[in-house]
Amino acid sequence: MERKRDVKKQALENRASLISRAYFFAESCHKNQKRASGELYVNHCLKTAQNLADWNLDETTVSAGLLHDVVEDTGCSLEEIDKNFGPQIANLVDGTTKLGRIKYRGDEKQKDNIKKLILATSKDLRVIFVKLADRLHNMQTLKSLPPDKQKRISLETYEIYSSLAYRLGMQRLAGELEDLAFPYLYPEEYKWLISNMKTRYAEREKYLKRIKPVVIKELTLANIKPLKVDFRAKRYSSLYKKLLRYDMDIDKIYDLVAFRIIVENIQDCYAALGVIHKLWPPLPGRIKDYIAMPKPNGYRSLHTVVFCVGQKIVEFQIRTMEMHEEAENGVAAHWAYEESKSSGKKRVSFAKNQDISWVERLRAWQEEEADSPDFIDALKMDFFKDRIFAITPKGQVVDLPAGATPIDFAYQIHTDLGNQCVGAKVNGKIVPLNHELRSSDIVEIVVHKGKKPSISWLEFVKTSSAISRIKKALKDKGPLFEPKQTELHIVAQARPDLIKDLSNVVSRNHLSLVNLSANPTGSGFQTIKIRCDSSDRRKISQLIVKIKSLKGIKEIDYRFV
Ligand code: MN
Repeated sequence: MERKRDVKKQALENRASLISRAYFFAESCHKNQKRASGELYVNHCLKTAQNLADWNLDETTVSAGLLHDVVEDTGCSLEEIDKNFGPQIANLVDGTTKLGRIKYRGDEKQKDNIKKLILATSKDLRVIFVKLADRLHNMQTLKSLPPDKQKRISLETYEIYSSLAYRLGMQRLAGELEDLAFPYLYPEEYKWLISNMKTRYAEREKYLKRIKPVVIKELTLANIKPLKVDFRAKRYSSLYKKLLRYDMDIDKIYDLVAFRIIVENIQDCYAALGVIHKLWPPLPGRIKDYIAMPKPNGYRSLHTVVFCVGQKIVEFQIRTMEMHEEAENGVAAHWAYEESKSSGKKRVSFAKNQDISWVERLRAWQEEEADSPDFIDALKMDFFKDRIFAITPKGQVVDLPAGATPIDFAYQIHTDLGNQCVGAKVNGKIVPLNHELRSSDIVEIVVHKGKKPSISWLEFVKTSSAISRIKKALKDKGPLFEPKQTELHIVAQARPDLIKDLSNVVSRNHLSLVNLSANPTGSGFQTIKIRCDSSDRRKISQLIVKIKSLKGIKEIDYRFV
């Protein structure tokens, strides 16, 4: 691939540039650190940044690539990044660090949640680009890791990151990631493919090399300027998937090696298709017009399969350079870093009108409504403003509505975990059970065996599944436990007549007071315990509303006894 920008060269040549500052900062942070492969850690940062530059991304993103591991793996803080490089880069580094917490271990149900979590965490899509660039280099150096890690990371790459790249239209990257993961996930199948395909690929390429001048000549005769004519072998991973659908019969795979013709404009695409069909008859039903009807991920191209020289079946793909760029780099192609011709100044370009369609596609995927004033804002929009994604200590992602609490989280994982929950930690800190969770929080549930849920949970849980399970568990206590009374716990500012006011409220609500005790807690507060002779939920909640309206009441809690 042609290299447009060499990050290391840029860093060494222009010491004042952002990229140079980021490079030397990363180098000093990772000083003395080595990768499992034995190479200097900073090389990994450089490779990640180079991938981003190869996708033609802006300097901010490339610099974030250089710095992506300093918070996770060195003593450097996010504040330092912010101070030295500004909030945008700090955000990108923070987002990438957070994505590193997610672990996929093969649970099918988790796949969608993880992809949603990634998008929810990455309000700025460039976070995903950094993560993908990082993952690409990690996959390229995977052989240095122990086998169990190789398997886990390959699975995650295959199921999550490759499919995310595909969704973002980054087809070349998606294919590269899959191909890198394939031998680790399917070592036997990989061996089989290599031994069965090698000669076929070679034969095929030799054949197409003979066809290529014919194609170029005929296009030129028809006044079509071929910008590029080449052929590419089908990737092993996608070939394998296709073989599974075709009874492992290699002869049925027509696009083993496909021709790719790149022309100047859309008219030329159709004209070139005509030229090919005049040369060789097409296979019925195999002409695909992805220009008129792009694939859901935005892919545009014309495909046809023809009976070529010697009756061999060959696939042709015809597209413009712009479509080609897009097909290779997808949404990243729209984040393109361009050199303005007049001034030679570099700028980031987006917000072209047609780019909005990318957002439309992403949005269709999310099934979300949103206004998109322009491209960058739209990409930064909160795809999931009504959902949050919390993570278990083992890296499992749990999809919850906004406002969900540790109790909702616990019930989402398992009924027993919810029922026996006595406490929760979020990101290592103990929180109250009604604590509102946020995306990418790591939530740990503390349980006590045999514990039953508390009725007061019903006041704050958000998911209907938690509500119904709490109710069921409370009912299951069954005849053993028939609450007849209610105990209220009140914290209030100490004042004259408080006790009198409280007893009045109780009697005005047609309840009788079984017991009332008050204790001063110091600093002017009192705790008051009231026991009433009813366990009628409706009556008790009316009572609570009335008590809350009294002067000086700070907190109120209740349980049926
Ligand atoms: Mn990394």
